[in-house]
Amino acid sequence: MEKNKAYEILNKLKEMYPDAKCELNYSSAFELLVAVSLSAQTTDKRVNMVTAELFKRYKDASELAEANYSDVYEILKSLGLATTKSQNLIALSKKLVEVYKGKVPSTRDELCTLPGIGRKSANVVLLEYFKKPALAVDTHVKRCANRLGLSEEDDVLKIEKDLCSLFNEEDYYSLHHSLIFFGRYFCKSVNPVCDKCPFINICKIKRP
Ligand code: SF4
Repeated sequence: MEKNKAYEILNKLKEMYPDAKCELNYSSAFELLVAVSLSAQTTDKRVNMVTAELFKRYKDASELAEANYSDVYEILKSLGLATTKSQNLIALSKKLVEVYKGKVPSTRDELCTLPGIGRKSANVVLLEYFKKPALAVDTHVKRCANRLGLSEEDDVLKIEKDLCSLFNEEDYYSLHHSLIFFGRYFCKSVNPVCDKCPFINICKIKRP
């Protein structure tokens, strides 16, 4: 796709979702990192319910590093993958304390050394908290990028590269959040609102 076509799509998405932003609640880099690490296979709303309790009990990495597994599991148990997430959260906090003096690192390579943090989660933290040019390709971004023709790739790393080459770095934030809102509330995986979609004429989904 040509850059100007890609920007027509972004401008329309921004019109649809002028206030698109991160829907995870956090008040520090550590809280964002934790919230992001818990967000696999669940909704941001549920993560926010769980972290409200978690952050009341554990204020920072040093407190969570000393936490008892079963106490953490008890708080996380309504989330998918609660066992793994509880283990990772304690291990992540320990590593932050032991290697990074309790502070969240601000590079992708360092973030990806933390238990439970992969490239996608690292990119969210880099873009959202550190305001660095990084594009996280989650399930919504992937699906919408494919349907809108922004990338024909299936592999998330290749999609990330396609998007990064189509858009300027200063637009990554609005692209990321408006694509997520579009995917979450409009172009859903099942039953997308195609009859009202401004992109119906360019959509890559084959229709009879
Ligand atoms: S036409 Fe439907 S599937 Fe295609 S982008 Fe719009 S909402 Fe999504």
